[in-house]
Amino acid sequence: MKPVLYLVIPCYNEEKVLPITSGMFSDKIVSLIAAGKIDQKSRVMFVNDGSGDSTWDIIESLSAQSEYFTGISLSRNRGHQNALLAGLTEAADKCDITVSIDCDGQDDINAVDKMVDEYLSGAEIVYGVRSSRESDTFFKRTTAQGFYGLMGRMGAGVVYNHADYRLLSSRVLKELSNFKEVNIFLRGMIPLVGFKSTCVYYERQKRIAGKSHYPFKKMLALAVDGITSLSTKPLRLITAFGFVVAAVSFAGILWSVIMRILNSTVAGWASIVSIICFFSGIQLLSIGVIGEYIGKIYLETKARPRFIIEKRTEPEKKKPD
Ligand code: UDP
Ligand code: MG
Repeated sequence: MKPVLYLVIPCYNEEKVLPITSGMFSDKIVSLIAAGKIDQKSRVMFVNDGSGDSTWDIIESLSAQSEYFTGISLSRNRGHQNALLAGLTEAADKCDITVSIDCDGQDDINAVDKMVDEYLSGAEIVYGVRSSRESDTFFKRTTAQGFYGLMGRMGAGVVYNHADYRLLSSRVLKELSNFKEVNIFLRGMIPLVGFKSTCVYYERQKRIAGKSHYPFKKMLALAVDGITSLSTKPLRLITAFGFVVAAVSFAGILWSVIMRILNSTVAGWASIVSIICFFSGIQLLSIGVIGEYIGKIYLETKARPRFIIEKRTEPEKKKPD
C-alpha cells in the first residue's frame, strides 16, 4: 500500500509568501501521487501560528479551493517549534509519513522526492541537510555555523546544517508523542527517538517574500533553549570551572599567608578589586546558568499544554483504513 504523506507547514504572518509557495506544495503532492509513490489521500497541512495578518484567511480559501489543502489554527502565537509539533500531532493519526517544511520556499521542495524514496527503502527519519549556505548572508551563515558548533560542544547533538525540513514515519511520530516535555526543540529530540535515519542534501534558497522571523537575538535564544533542553553540560562546566578556581584560590591563600609571615603585606588594592570583580562575574554567570535550568524545571512541572488548536479547516477525523 502506498503511504499517505502530509506536508506540515508552520506559518506565522506569511501572507506575502503563502500565495506563491502554496502552489509549489500542492504541485509536489499531485506529482508524487501521479508518480505512484504516495496515496491519493496525501495533503498539504498548514499550521497558522497565531498570525496577526490574513494568513489564516488565505489557508481557509486555499482549502476551500482544493482538497489537497488543509489547515489548523493555533489560539495564539506559540513559536515555530510548538507550531510544528501541533501540525505533526494533528497529522500523526491521518498519515503514514510527514514532511515538515517552512512555508517561505527556502527549502527545496524537490528534495521531498528523495525523502520519500529513502522512506520506501526503509528509513524512518530522513533529514533534509543544506549542502551549502551560499544564499544566506555572511552574517547569517557565520552565526548559524556558530550555532551548530556551540550546540555540539554543549552536548546537544543535532544534525549539522539541518533545520526542520525532515521526513518522519508514523512510527517515529508515535514515539515522539511520548516525549512529554514542554520545552521542545525538535532538532535535538528527533535524533533521541532513534530508528533508521538518513540524510538528503539540498541547496538552500533565498526567502521568496516577507522577512525572517529569526534575527540574531532569536537565534541566540533558540541556541540557549536548545542546549538547556537537551543537555546538562553547562552545569558540568560550572562544576569543572569551580574546581579550577578553587585550586587557584587555594594557591592564593597559601601565597597570602606566606606574604603575611614574611611581613611584606603592603596594600593590594588593585588585586583585591580584580579578584572581587572576577568572582562576582563568575558567580552571577553561574547563577544565571543554573537559573535557566530552574526556569525550565518550573515550566515542566506546570505541564501546560504545548499548543491549543482553535480552528480547523475540516472536522477532526481518524486515519483512513
Ligand atoms: N514560524 C512560525 N512561528 C513563529 C516564527 C516562525 O510558525 O513564531 C514559521 C515561519 O512562518 C516559517 C518557519 O517558521 O515557515 C521558519 O521561519 P523563518 O523563515 O522566519 O526563519 P529562518 O528561515 O529565517 O530561520
Ligand atoms: Mg525561512
